[in-house]
Parts: sequence; C-alpha cells; structure tokens
Amino acid sequence: MSRIRATFWDPTGSRYGIPTYPWKMAPAHLLTLRQLTAQGLRPGGQGVQAQVLWRSRRHGAPGVRAAYLYDVRFALPKRTPTARQRAALSKANAARRTCPECLRDAGYVLPRHLGICLDCAEEAATRTDQADQTDWRKAA
Ligand SMILES: [Zn+2]
Repeated sequence: MSRIRATFWDPTGSRYGIPTYPWKMAPAHLLTLRQLTAQGLRPGGQGVQAQVLWRSRRHGAPGVRAAYLYDVRFALPKRTPTARQRAALSKANAARRTCPECLRDAGYVLPRHLGICLDCAEEAATRTDQADQTDWRKAA
C-alpha cells in the first residue's frame, strides 16, 4: 500500500473519528448519497457511517476532499409523494409565479425583492420616474 493510501486507511476510525478509507477502497456496503439515490434508496435516518478521503489537485478545490458514506443495510426505499402532496406542491409553485398586481401567471418565479412580475415592476418604475420629474419641475 502506498504511503498516501496508508494515510487515509483507518477502518476503525481511531485517527479520523469515523471509519475512513482511501479512494476506491471502501467496502461495497458503504455508499454515497448519490449511489444510494441511483438505487432508489435514502439513508433513512442513519448518520454518516464512514468517509472516503483523497487528496485532490482539482483547480479551485485543492487539498483533502471527503465523500460521506452510508450503510446500504440501514437504507430505506425513497418516498414518492402522494397525489395530494404533488397537488399541494404544484399549487404552491403556481402561487410563486402569480403576480399579485396583474393576477397573471408570469411563467417564472417572481423575484422576491420585487414581489410582482417584471412587467409590473417596470411599469411602476416608469411611473415613479415621471413623478420625480414632475416634482423637479414644481421645485424649479
Ligand atoms: Zn404583474
């Protein structure tokens, strides 16, 4: 075993706190979240069981990187939303797209800092611009 691999070889967790394996050396029953998801599974309440550590030379993220592993034996099947949950979600999403000013579905989620659709926001901005000019004329 190379020296780098030995650095991250800690199946008992005595050095890193949790069982730790070098790249590609974790036992087959320990999977990442993505690997669980690919099998239609979720961690199911279990915490991180182990980790893979490796030294990365990737630009922007150099240093030691970690992937957290979950035990497939404690994993549960992914939940699929019920028809009522799906209906509630699409209703909530529709509300996020509906402009309170013109009451139309804008087709996109309204920006929170505006609270109204872009058309209404632009109209409102034009109106205040004109008001500003009027005030300026009055003041002069
Ligand atoms: Zn609007």
